[in-house]
Amino acid sequence: MAVAETKPTPIPFVDLKAQYHSLEQEITEASAHVLQSCGYILGKEVGLFEQEFAEYCEVAHAIGVDSGTSALELAVRACGIGPGDEVITATNTFIATVLSISHSGATPVLVDHDPQTYNIDIGAIERAITPRTRAIIPVHLYGQPADMDPILELAQKHNLIVLEDAAQAHGARYKGKRTGTFGHAAAFSFYPAKNLGACGDGGMVVTNDPQIADSVQMLRNYGQRKKYYHELQGFNRRLDTLQAAILSVKLRHLDDWNAARRRHATLYNTLLADVEPVVTPTVADYAEHVWHLYVVRVPDRTSFMQYLGEHQIATGIHYPVPVHRQQAYENLGYAPGSLPISEEYADHIVSLPMFPELTSESVHYVVDTIKAFFQA
Ligand SMILES: *Cc1c(COP(=O)(O)O)cnc(C)c1O
Repeated sequence: MAVAETKPTPIPFVDLKAQYHSLEQEITEASAHVLQSCGYILGKEVGLFEQEFAEYCEVAHAIGVDSGTSALELAVRACGIGPGDEVITATNTFIATVLSISHSGATPVLVDHDPQTYNIDIGAIERAITPRTRAIIPVHLYGQPADMDPILELAQKHNLIVLEDAAQAHGARYKGKRTGTFGHAAAFSFYPAKNLGACGDGGMVVTNDPQIADSVQMLRNYGQRKKYYHELQGFNRRLDTLQAAILSVKLRHLDDWNAARRRHATLYNTLLADVEPVVTPTVADYAEHVWHLYVVRVPDRTSFMQYLGEHQIATGIHYPVPVHRQQAYENLGYAPGSLPISEEYADHIVSLPMFPELTSESVHYVVDTIKAFFQA
């Protein structure tokens, strides 16, 4: 089968320019307002955005920080997790999840994932629990909520803290409830390519626990509640006023953007259903997925990606090396083959173009090209 004659212009993996242009005037106005006010550090826009984001997530408190990585680490520290503690998380995640554990002095315990949903394997969590276990960090990977009920049950049984890594799941729901509301706290990232992205770095801790909120607020700002009176050895990890103002503009569009992602994912699923070598994503019945990434598995990934690239279609791999096999975590001593599902999947996963402004013509073109690849 030949690839469609009317070849669209190159299809990027994400298209930040399209989103910027659609909101250019509002973003410029919001930014100019901050620049003129000169309230660059913890200006009033930070508090406003925190309030809006807390409302959006249906939680009591939101504390803006300078990245998703900081949000995770400050949440870990605010829960008093540190040296001697073990924290269980999935190995098939972005490295930041695990950095938040080791940077706070605790020991990461990495486990495999469910082969259908790619989210943390519940049985594996249970087997990894020891007397030193203090917390579990489920990651809502690719925008699909982890199976929270059994995780919370295990946590209750063993008296463990649960922190959600919601960096890829702004607006997703589990059994009707927003991600970010299940654990003791949750971390979001506003890295530009996330479902809600700033024009730079940013992050947020959300929680219903006033004590965790209070600690994170101090930790992000030199450990002070009152200027120059330091209760804790804190950090400088604040959300920029400029980014907060821009994020307020963008938050109003998040639900529409997530709906567009869902439409693209549904179309991909439908069109790829009969393309036999491609394993499409499974959506759990409890999940309202927000499709940060659309990830498939294919037998020969290198030639697959090369073929798509030759046809002007950008792809990605999330992630090529599971964390337990990264050089940075050699010290944890995981042998090759120790977490076999993630290791096998890491060699076959490919992320297809996914962003709100993608058109259905582009999705058709991507799938036609994939079909042509398998028929060649
Ligand atoms: C993006 C991401 C982070 C880190 O967020 P940054 O804002 O880039 O620091 C953490 N965890 C996951 C799962 C992510 O995708």
